[in-house]
Parts: sequence; C-alpha cells; structure tokens
Amino acid sequence: MSQKKASKNGAFSRRDFLKTGALSGMVLGSGTLLGGCASGNGSARPGDAKNIIFMVSDGMSSGTLTAADHFLRRNHGRPSHWISLYEQNRVVRGLMDMTSGSSIVTDSAAASCSWGCGRRLVNGRVNMTEDEQPLKPILKIFRDAGKATGLATTTTITHATPAGFGANVMARGEEPTIATQYLERGYDVLLGGGNRFYSAEHREDGRDLYSEYAQAGYKVVRKKEELKAFNSSEKLLGIFYDSHVPYTLDHMNTEEYRRDIPTLAEMTESAINRLSQNPNGFILQVEGGRVDHAAHGNDAAGLIYDQIAFDDAIARVLEFTENRDDTLVIITTDHGNANPGLNGVGSGYGESEPRFDRLAEFRHTNNWFLPQLDENSSVSRIRELVEYATKIEIRRDEAEILRKAYAREYENLHRMMSRPWPVMGQILANYLAFNWIGTSHTSDYVELAAYGPGSDRIGPFTKNTDLFHLMVEMAAVQAYQEA
Ligand SMILES: [Zn+2]
Repeated sequence: MSQKKASKNGAFSRRDFLKTGALSGMVLGSGTLLGGCASGNGSARPGDAKNIIFMVSDGMSSGTLTAADHFLRRNHGRPSHWISLYEQNRVVRGLMDMTSGSSIVTDSAAASCSWGCGRRLVNGRVNMTEDEQPLKPILKIFRDAGKATGLATTTTITHATPAGFGANVMARGEEPTIATQYLERGYDVLLGGGNRFYSAEHREDGRDLYSEYAQAGYKVVRKKEELKAFNSSEKLLGIFYDSHVPYTLDHMNTEEYRRDIPTLAEMTESAINRLSQNPNGFILQVEGGRVDHAAHGNDAAGLIYDQIAFDDAIARVLEFTENRDDTLVIITTDHGNANPGLNGVGSGYGESEPRFDRLAEFRHTNNWFLPQLDENSSVSRIRELVEYATKIEIRRDEAEILRKAYAREYENLHRMMSRPWPVMGQILANYLAFNWIGTSHTSDYVELAAYGPGSDRIGPFTKNTDLFHLMVEMAAVQAYQEA
C-alpha cells in the first residue's frame, strides 16, 4: 500500500532520538541539501533557524499590498511594516511560483501544502497524494523533532491554509476531521475561528472537542480576555467565533467583537509567547485569512483593513525577532485574488486620491450590509444601508442594478461579475476608484519576503515547494520527515 513502508519498518525510532533535545540539532544538522549561494552576511548553516515563523496573507494580490500601504501612509502617516522592510532593505525579496499539482491557479489547500509537505498537490487536497497516501506535514515533522508547533488565523482554525501545515484529508472541506487530527497530533497552539467544528451541538458526531482537548492537557479559551490572561506552559486552544472571525473593520465598529475577539496581532503575540517557551524552538504559521475572502467578495474595506491587521501581526513578529538571529521569518501570500487596484481617474488622475481616501470613512464592510439585502429590498432601503456603512450616496440606477443582481435579472458582460457582491464592488469603484478583475484566485507570481537564518538562500524567483525544503533544512529536522 504505502510506498514508504520499507523505510518505515527499517527506521529506528526517531522519537527516542528527540529526547536528546538540543543535541538533535548538532547530530542531524550536518547534511546540506540546498546549494544556496550566501550573500551579504548570509552564512547561515542548517540548524541555525531554531524558530520558524511563516506568515501568509491569504489571497493577497500585489495591488492589495500596495493599497494597504497607500492607505496607511495617507491616513496614518506611516508605511506598512511589510513595505518598510523593503524600504529599509531588511529582507530578501522575490517572486514565487505557486502552481499546484492540477493548475497554474492554485487553491489555498494546494498552496499551503506546497510549503507544508514539499509537493505540488491537486487543488483541494490536504497533504494527500493522488493515490490517497498521506504526506507528513511540517508541523508533525517539527513536533517529532521536539519543537513546539502552532497555528494562528482569522479563518476557522481548520481551514485550508492552517490545515496544509498540520493535517491530512482528501478534501479541504473535511474540517470536523481536521479538528480531531490536530488533537491527536498534539500541536501546542491553535488560535482562530471554527466553533462549529469543535462544539458538540454543531458536530455531526456529537463529540465535544473542547472537553476532549482539555482532557488532553489543553487550556481552552473562547474570549480575548482569557487569551490575554493565559500564562502557562499548557497547550493552548483558542476558538473565538462560530466560523471565520469577523472582518477587521466590522470588528473595529462592533463593541462585542472588540471586547471578545482578539486581533490577529494579539493571537500572534500569544502564540509566540507560548511557543517560545520550548527550549528546542518552534514553528508558527500566521494567516491573515480573510484578505482572500474580501477579494472573492470584491469588498474593498474588508480587503484593506484585514491586510492592515495582517501587517500589525508582522509588527509583533518583528518585536520578537529584534536582537535575535535564530528565527527564520517568511512573509508571503499563497496566490493573487481578484487583482484589485487603484485606477487613475479625473483630470491628471487627480481624482484617484480623494476617492481612495473615502475608505477611511467606512463604518462597515460590504460583507456586513449585503447579507441584509435581497431582491425584495427597495432602492431607497439599499441606498440607505449602503450610505450608513460607507458614507457614500450611490445613485438610484446603481441601487436598482444591485437589486436586479439579487433577483438574477442582471448579467455583466464578464459574467463572473454578475452577482450582488461583484456588482457592489463595481458600484463602489465609481466612488473609490478601486476596482477588480474578477471574483476568484489568479495565477500571479506572488510576493515573497524573508529574513533570518536561511533567508539568504532565497533567490529572486522561487518555486513554492522549495520553501518546505528550506525550512526543514534550516531547522535541521530532515531526519523527522519520514512518518
Ligand atoms: Zn480563496
């Protein structure tokens, strides 16, 4: 059955080996796989990356990174942390080809697995080969090497991107199973949304995973306050919302969200605090998962505020890595999505800036008000709700087209753009000058930035799967790759 059977049976128990802790780095760190020409101060050797922090802004087109940076400069008088790293020449930077095993347009599962197991898989699979064989994901490899392991995200904790580092299922939608796999595998820190895959009342099998995790030694937290108070060496499960956690802008303007739900930056800080207690080091994936959702929904405010929330998480990572040289930090995205951008409008393109600045006045995302409308909503109701959320008075004919889109009586020439979400994105583009090319992932080569030991091995153009080998080698955990 398993192609790996022979080597499995022949292998000594590596779990015994890991008891040696810090020694393992010395013993196993001798073999080197990557050619890598060192540049600058780049003399990192395998094993130098005691810790790895992998940061993904999911579905972040280049236009998203740019728009968030413009937004911060114009409204907060400072650049984004991500672009600051470029300005200050503090990172290695390149493009990455995220092709999956089934398409040059990847989904998030195949993308995360390309980094998480080093193989290009069929879209939708989570660390499973075409002949349904499991591939050992990187969190398990690091766990077996005696390192701490963690995931923090704004999506359900069982969603494709975190799962790509820690689970094995044939279809990414098997989130109830992924929740039980995390428990069986004993990862140290799990922070995000996804109550519906944990609570007994929502799970089809009726299992109460919260009590099962608690019995297995996890501290279970459900609110921001409890997360902030957490200060122990227990394992940590934090589930803060039924599904994905709310968009950042809606979080900012909803009192109970602000009170109860931590930001991605807060989750990142808590995760690092706990994981860094392990003397052997750790691996942490941090995902800004809803940037992707906002792009699918052509939701400008959802997109830009969530990208900024991801950028705030970068700041927490920078604080941790300041004055240390033992942590490889990778900052990237898994694919473009809807490729938004600011258009030049008005005489001399002078209208672009004031229009874009209107985003700073928004109270809520499109995702907040669009579900409150339907084909029976009156034009005046549509205009009123849009104005409440965005402070923009859309035209009557625009509201009427939105109503028709709900009723499926409207067809855009680019048919992907005919549903209410993209129609609303296009209506707002008239006022924001910020527009979209579609509602799905794109094949764009993606931004890749890195610093810390091993980053000097990243060139201007990287194949997604190379990052798996880089992480495993720089942390000197290759010996734990086999199941
Ligand atoms: Zn997506």
